[in-house]
Amino acid sequence: MSRLFIISNRLPITIEKNGENYFYRPSSGGLVSAISAYLGQEANSRFTRKVWVGVSDCSEKLWKSADSGINAEYEFMPVFVSPKHYEQYYDGFSNSVLWPLFHYFPSFADYQPSFFEGYHKVNAKFAEELEQTIDARDTVWIHDYHLLPLAGMLREKFPQLTIGFFLHIPFPSYELFRVIPREWQHELINGMLGADVIGFHTEDYLEHFLTCVQKVMKVTVQGRTIRRSGRDVRVGAFPIGIDFKRFHEGSSDRAVLLKRSEYLRSKQDKKLIFSVDRLDYSKGVFNRLKGYGEFLVQNPHYKEKVVFALVIVPSRDSIRKYAERKKMIDEYIGNLNSRLGNINWQPVMYQYGHLSFEELLGLYTACDLALITPIRDGMNLVAKEFVASRRDKQGVLVLSEMAGAANQLAEALLINPNDRREISRMIKVGLEMSPDEQESRMTAMQESVRSYDVVTWAKQFFTALDRVSAEQIKKE
Ligand code: UDP
Repeated sequence: MSRLFIISNRLPITIEKNGENYFYRPSSGGLVSAISAYLGQEANSRFTRKVWVGVSDCSEKLWKSADSGINAEYEFMPVFVSPKHYEQYYDGFSNSVLWPLFHYFPSFADYQPSFFEGYHKVNAKFAEELEQTIDARDTVWIHDYHLLPLAGMLREKFPQLTIGFFLHIPFPSYELFRVIPREWQHELINGMLGADVIGFHTEDYLEHFLTCVQKVMKVTVQGRTIRRSGRDVRVGAFPIGIDFKRFHEGSSDRAVLLKRSEYLRSKQDKKLIFSVDRLDYSKGVFNRLKGYGEFLVQNPHYKEKVVFALVIVPSRDSIRKYAERKKMIDEYIGNLNSRLGNINWQPVMYQYGHLSFEELLGLYTACDLALITPIRDGMNLVAKEFVASRRDKQGVLVLSEMAGAANQLAEALLINPNDRREISRMIKVGLEMSPDEQESRMTAMQESVRSYDVVTWAKQFFTALDRVSAEQIKKE
């Protein structure tokens, strides 16, 4: 019997109330569909059981009372942690130390010792729960920055276990990483090295990691292999893709086409620029607005001829830096609209809230230009989704070179997000690009997104993991 354990911060599941009864409903995140699509292929049905492990969004009592008799593809194994420890681990160390630092915002990091203690405790709780369930024949795939120490904790108990780890955010250069207190640095790197394979989105993140390994752990690195006593660790770049078919085919669904026509009607003969991001300082929303403002000032004939639909999706608003940002963005947009707009025309149409899938695809397919300007972004899936949705091969992508996605989307108009003049110039170039040029750029980008989709990503990661575990068995 071979089991696969997928481990992430949260379970991809929500508990819902129906009358007096609670039941749980799997949610279809990108990661779930990626792994399911890969494992669903005949040749990969080697795992007899698939278990998803993560923190539950409800209490243990509620979980037990919920009706789990649904036909889910995965079994779910909840980890229950106290609200205090979860806050220290999630709002604290994960999102007030690792997230800002790994996205090159060192001055936003808050090194409170209690944050690291909570982070350690929650990782130890994951390890403790897993230790009671797994055995050495299982495969474990750990995801993301919330769980950096976990592989190391499991390795201590299970020297033979096959463990993969994937980091979904950037890994920063050593000059950034070294500002973390030394003991913590050690626990983080040592923890990651508990895995057999460590995956990153780009070669750059991988190189940074290898430098940190050498500086922090003083171990030998040979190419992409880290030599450790008893066990080698492999690192690789696996740029995550999207479910191409879902966005490509979904863009001609009836509900999407209806939304699209609604947006086209409301923009009338104006050009439509679109962006959507979670509320996050790494997404570069101010630079984007400044670039757009500059564009309108430099090109006054575009006034009343263009409109920017800017959507911000609520995120982490229990953290002060995020709540502050929301207020600043609201004010900035108000000022920009009053400074450059008039009674008949608002340069920015702003929504703070979630979009349905139909609305998202409606906007991707109705806009003339997608303006994506993160200051740092591990990958940026929005850029890939926009490209995949354009069956008409029209539309221009203006993309920050600081997004991991820029490596696969070289035909986008690439910009430096700190250069508002360049953003302004590229908006103009984009809005005036001929349909032929749009088509040739979009065709090339679509091919790239289609050929390295999310299933290919999962496949390549598992192939690397299989190779390492086969080598390990040979050695033993
Ligand atoms: N998205 C969403 N809700 C929305 C709008 C967008 O879940 O209301 C999705 C979007 O389709 C994309 C993801 O959120 O898959 C954002 O991923 P990205 O890599 O661009 O940024 P992240 O939020 O992970 O930093």
